[in-house]
Amino acid sequence: MSAYCEVALPVPLDRTFTYAIRDGQNPRRGARVIAPFRNEKLIGIVMRLSAKAPTDFEVKYLEAVLDQDQGQDSHEGPLLSEGLLTLAEWMAQYYLAPLGEVLRGMLPLMAEVRRTVYYRITDLGRDVLARTVENEPQEEFASGVEQAAEKPSPLTGSIFSLYIDKSESAGPLAPERRSHLIEREGKVPQEQRELQHRVLSRLASGEPIKVSTLRTATGATLPVLAAMIRKKWIARETAAAERDARRTERFAVLIPETRLPALTQNQQAILAELAACGGELPVAELRRKDLSSSTLRTLVRHGLVRIDERPTAFRLGGIESTAEPFRLNEPQTEALASLASSLGTFKPFLLHGITGSGKTAVYLAAMQRALDRGLASILLVPEIGLTPQTAGLLDAAFGTKVALLHSALTPEERSEQWRRIRRGEAPIVVGTRSAIFAPVPNLGLVLVDEEHDQSYKQEETPRYNARDVAVMRAKFAGAVVVLGSATPSLESWHNSVQKKYTRIDMRERVMNRTLPEIELIDMRREFQETAKEQLFSRALITETQAALDRGEQALILLNRRGYSFAILCRACGAKLECQNCAIALTHHKPPAEQADIAREGQRLECHYCGFRRTVPARCPQCDSEHMYYLGAGSEQGEERLAEIFPSARIGRMDRDTVRGRYDLERLLARLHSGEINLLVGTQMIAKGHDIHGITLVGVVGCDHALSMPDFRAAERVFQLMTQVSGRAGRGELPGRVVVQTYYPDHYAILAASKHDYTSFVEREARIKGIYRFHLILKATSRKALNDALRGMLAHADEAGVPRRNLIVDVDAQRLM
Ligand code: ADP
Ligand code: ZN
Ligand code: ZN
Repeated sequence: MSAYCEVALPVPLDRTFTYAIRDGQNPRRGARVIAPFRNEKLIGIVMRLSAKAPTDFEVKYLEAVLDQDQGQDSHEGPLLSEGLLTLAEWMAQYYLAPLGEVLRGMLPLMAEVRRTVYYRITDLGRDVLARTVENEPQEEFASGVEQAAEKPSPLTGSIFSLYIDKSESAGPLAPERRSHLIEREGKVPQEQRELQHRVLSRLASGEPIKVSTLRTATGATLPVLAAMIRKKWIARETAAAERDARRTERFAVLIPETRLPALTQNQQAILAELAACGGELPVAELRRKDLSSSTLRTLVRHGLVRIDERPTAFRLGGIESTAEPFRLNEPQTEALASLASSLGTFKPFLLHGITGSGKTAVYLAAMQRALDRGLASILLVPEIGLTPQTAGLLDAAFGTKVALLHSALTPEERSEQWRRIRRGEAPIVVGTRSAIFAPVPNLGLVLVDEEHDQSYKQEETPRYNARDVAVMRAKFAGAVVVLGSATPSLESWHNSVQKKYTRIDMRERVMNRTLPEIELIDMRREFQETAKEQLFSRALITETQAALDRGEQALILLNRRGYSFAILCRACGAKLECQNCAIALTHHKPPAEQADIAREGQRLECHYCGFRRTVPARCPQCDSEHMYYLGAGSEQGEERLAEIFPSARIGRMDRDTVRGRYDLERLLARLHSGEINLLVGTQMIAKGHDIHGITLVGVVGCDHALSMPDFRAAERVFQLMTQVSGRAGRGELPGRVVVQTYYPDHYAILAASKHDYTSFVEREARIKGIYRFHLILKATSRKALNDALRGMLAHADEAGVPRRNLIVDVDAQRLM
């Protein structure tokens, strides 16, 4: 048997730590343990077992093993499978991230280790109590310690899987320590002694009591309890219980009623909200919308609303598909055949299918094929809330076999889903970025939808890209992996050119539909011809009016949220900036009649950190009243559109109108039904929506990114333009796109306007390996820095890099 183990702890250190294993503890590779580290107890993962003790330092014991090896009946295998552990090790190495931090991101089970604190009476405390019952409490509290302290407090078992504070397991007290305690006890004020007595009496039965319960029952404060722990009368225990109770969610359900009593405004608001959402909403969702729960209770009393309690876990929801059942067309059938015939081995594919080519149907069919062979699938999507349609399709196709993992889940929901997946109950996993770590047994297929999407990149340690991790996960699992997009990232494209990924092309839209024709409007010329700075060009206005007149729908991308994106002072030039981030504050001014979202007044907001302030009437710097507002966001777009098209039924889709998932579902439902015929919004409107009535897409200000110092700028603009254009003409009527641009000659804009991915890639320098690297070296020693730089220059010379391609800039903190 191994006596030691190597544990990866969630600390920013690039190493594992050795711990000794106690008798009865039975950890194995992949199990969670609680380990003492500095003054904390951390949850770590066992990476290796070993028989040999380290020689150079003294090892500590593991505090507890959370996932004990259960012998033969542990049909589930270790908590983290070998495949996931290997993946974690690969990530730690590839992304230069501490293994413990990688693993922490993989395991959403921290919520399970409920750190509930319990208190329990010790034998010593029991003795103290026994004496005080016979005598006057005060005196005994001062003297009881001495005798009782002779006995060591044994580590008694408990109904919980517990770890016990060191204070209790320390064994008998040394005599000098004892007299010290007694001395101190004499000084304890009477009030506190009574509190202590109450605590001991409450704990007398021996059952551990939760800290909150104990405090309510006795009135003891945490310092009082802490003092009692120091005296070893009570012990503190932290339950590491794994929760398993099925959680439920409360729903407010509208009771249809013909004759309504007189209602207050708040009551009406709740009823309207429920009615608008198909008659029911989770109570939590109402609360999020600031609809009062006391009003809700009143409605329940009046019999207008009832509260239903339902199991939460498996509701997928989403928008039901209205599409007629169809048979896969030829390109889809061929794509499916390639994928299906590779199931059972590792094989990466790049599925390059134009917008509207029906990629989703291929994903679903491939998952079904995998399922038929007893294999599980993971489908990654950029943002689940943005594609409720996909959720609806999955629900219809696979029902309770689906597990959903996304960022809006509470820790409890997340671990519940995680457990279901691990038990093999949900062989279809759908989720955002971190769903790539879902512990599915028998993984056969990994699909990454819209693989180019930025949301797959994690911006904190470990800084991984889930698309790339997906490929490695599939590799370790021997699974098929499919990266799908109409606008593949250059990285994936490059891999397909290098034949590392097998490319599948779907070049036609389904049902012989055509891609929309794209017209470029040169906004510089528009300005010359109209002599006015206009948000919308004449062509876009004409086309929009025509689409609305024909009873069709139009969609306008204005890729900034808020009203104006900067406020400047004309007098002194001051720019209103966030006090935390020093970036321009965005002016928000929601239209007055915005009834469908919680009303908020004007404000300035930092889109980086969320800081908010009121709109000042005068310049905070020079007190001038000449402030001016620069740039138009979606709120201003909406306002302008309402002026230009007074009879249009306008909707807006951005982070301000879409807060919760239900907001989006409702907005999309209004679009599908035609209730909204003109939608303005940020890049959210470009995400995979399949609305058949849209025949016109307008693109306003999607090219400002081209002036940004970002090596992916061209790629991003190309992707956004192609994706948003792809929303037009998905139904029976063909679509049109009007793109307003200040860069009509830029290759990204030109290629996107011709739906020509290949010509874009060929023009993009990055694919040819032409990069501009930017390295920052920092050193405290001038000599070290100098040596490093000289070494690098020598290396560049050797590699034949011309000196004029290198710029060295030394910025000194100290010259000598
Ligand atoms: P993509 O993701 O490639 O842009 P979707 O998967 O959203 O395209 O499919 C576009 C639309 O085409 C959807 O409404 C879908 O129901 C429909 N569709 C997919 N395949 C077919 C088919 N073989 N026949 C008819 N309609 C189809
Ligand atoms: Zn000023
Ligand atoms: Zn800020």
